[in-house]
Amino acid sequence: MSRLPLLLAIGAIGLAGPAHALTITFDPIAGDSLTGAESQAFGAAAAAWESVLTDPVTVSIAIGFRDLGSNILGQTSIAEVTAPYSSVAARLALDATSAADATAVAHLPAAVPGGSIAMTSADARAIGFATPAGAIDAQIEFTSNPALPFQTSRNAGGGISAGMFDLIGVAEHEIGHALGFVSNVGSDAAYTPLDLFRYQSPTPAAGLSHQIGEAASFSIDGGQTSLATFADGNFYQPSHWSGSVPALMDPALASGTVQTITPLDVTALDVIGWDTSVPEPAAAALLAPGLALLALTRRRRRA
Ligand SMILES: [Zn+2]
Repeated sequence: MSRLPLLLAIGAIGLAGPAHALTITFDPIAGDSLTGAESQAFGAAAAAWESVLTDPVTVSIAIGFRDLGSNILGQTSIAEVTAPYSSVAARLALDATSAADATAVAHLPAAVPGGSIAMTSADARAIGFATPAGAIDAQIEFTSNPALPFQTSRNAGGGISAGMFDLIGVAEHEIGHALGFVSNVGSDAAYTPLDLFRYQSPTPAAGLSHQIGEAASFSIDGGQTSLATFADGNFYQPSHWSGSVPALMDPALASGTVQTITPLDVTALDVIGWDTSVPEPAAAALLAPGLALLALTRRRRRA
């Protein structure tokens, strides 16, 4: 397994400067190269996120292609950094800019098991933690398996041809993990910001859900309202929606379909610390035969 050359630290930072836009930069994984069409597809995916998130931060991603097995389209390794929960909660409150943020901050738990929060380095920066400049935030690998062929651009009508997979959509999905759509359910690592909005379903009064196999709802009002359900980790990784409604962070993608950012995805990124502008319209994607998985792996910072 490759290891990201990361050395990240959490420290204090002042208030954010004037509003700019999110910038996502990408470079080939060392020793790899990208075709012009592949670079263009990844640039389109980055632009899709840059159009809905407004934090003045730069996110650096390494990308490449290799065979990821028989049914994996893409996977992301993230740089994870931890901070005390009290510090994260305070910064989420300072960073609140939307109605969803206000609700989310008002319903944050008083404490979390373990007492600390593990963030992707990109999310940490969006919340206002200082991370060293120039470090790679994530590494994204797309499959090179010829049985899972990518289409690097969409058809004139916006669709994807039968039997082909939407490279732009898969890239948007993997970038979503890098930005912080990550759960640590099923691992002994600290809760993530997203795990603060993962409630036991259908009995949210029982509290946060942090067990593999447990039905879990996405709720920003302390479990009173379920906005969606998360994958339970038994088959699909818990760092995904369950797939019950079409959304970018669903765990699988069918060939011949487009996958793109939906308002639900934006709400999740919003409450974990990103500032948002206008969400893209929801995509009308249906899961069908030819499903392939979108995997997530994690790398942790070495102390
Ligand atoms: Zn995924």
